[in-house]
Amino acid sequence: MTYFDHNATAPVMREARDAWLAATEHVPGNPSSPHQPGLRAGAALREAREKLAHFLGCNAEDIIWTSGATEANNTVIHHFAKALDAQTEIWISAIEHPCVHESAKHYFGKRARLIPVTHDGVADLDWLTAEMADRRPGLVGVMAANNETGVMQPWREIQAICRSYEVPFFMDAVQWLGKMPARELGQCEFVSGAAHKFGGPRGVGFLKIPHKAKIIPLLVGGKQEAGHRAGTENVPIILAMMAALEAREKQMGRGEHVLRGVWRENFEKGFLKDLPGAAIVGRSAPRLWNTVAALMPGGGQWRWLSKLDKAGYAVSTGSACTTGKEEPSHVLAAMHIKPADAHRVLRFSSGWETTENDWDSLAKALLNIQEEFQAP
Ligand code: PLP
Repeated sequence: MTYFDHNATAPVMREARDAWLAATEHVPGNPSSPHQPGLRAGAALREAREKLAHFLGCNAEDIIWTSGATEANNTVIHHFAKALDAQTEIWISAIEHPCVHESAKHYFGKRARLIPVTHDGVADLDWLTAEMADRRPGLVGVMAANNETGVMQPWREIQAICRSYEVPFFMDAVQWLGKMPARELGQCEFVSGAAHKFGGPRGVGFLKIPHKAKIIPLLVGGKQEAGHRAGTENVPIILAMMAALEAREKQMGRGEHVLRGVWRENFEKGFLKDLPGAAIVGRSAPRLWNTVAALMPGGGQWRWLSKLDKAGYAVSTGSACTTGKEEPSHVLAAMHIKPADAHRVLRFSSGWETTENDWDSLAKALLNIQEEFQAP
């Protein structure tokens, strides 16, 4: 099977697996315990925290380990729900992951306003600037890159706008991290990430919080993570996550992601030429090097998906979390893509191990399927 669904989850890389095995064998203690095995686990955790802080450009104490991005994102929204007064709004982009949308709706109801996006799926900076001049929300949340389209958001500009009005900025960096360099992400007040999108294990992530901030915990019942998140830290998977991130940052340091962007670009050019009626969602916006949200010609997305599956290609209709749902994706709806067109969208998301040959063979498979559809 050729795997083109890395935005849903990516295979665990060797470095991460080795780090997990080594820590499981050699770091058996609970990092909160006072004896030597506990102290060793605590030291390993501290080292991992320092490493992540170094990549993000923040302080080690600003990192909270979590079970993934869903927990990290819920922690942020829950904190502001408790900390803000009952009138204050929060503003989140219309294309956030459901774990941000749903928790904002859950805690804030109508006080969670949606920041619109342009037709290309980029958060509307003009809207934000104009609204902010008028009134201030308690929090602004915009993701770094969208999971369905790969469209990268102008987060540095958004951070600057928020800072000038002293509004905290929260960024879900799940799809950015491990695909694009992490440096500077730590300048945002709140940043979340999850290991399984870049070659680490599932079930582990983090939340970066403002320096010296006190966060109202979502999980209570223990003093771990400076009282910000109760529960024994899973040291082996945290170390595995950091091994994966370190390896990805090294690859990016060598510019390996740039070449992969060229392969994706070549695929898109051929795709648009060979399949009349096809289009790429968000094509004129800056996008992650690995993602293609493709409007397929003729035939709905499920027909394409099952043909590709049979031909040996794992692709997606968009977010893994909405797969199988009948309603069109909220991301595509926010980009004013008509429901009928939204049902034609397939997502191809490559990974670090995807080769140029894999892209070529996907292109050929699409062409074959198109011919099958057209056969009398
Ligand atoms: N945020 C984004 C942008 C995502 O793509 C995902 C997963 O698809 C999540 C959050 C949730 O991550 P997890 O399922 O690891 O908690």
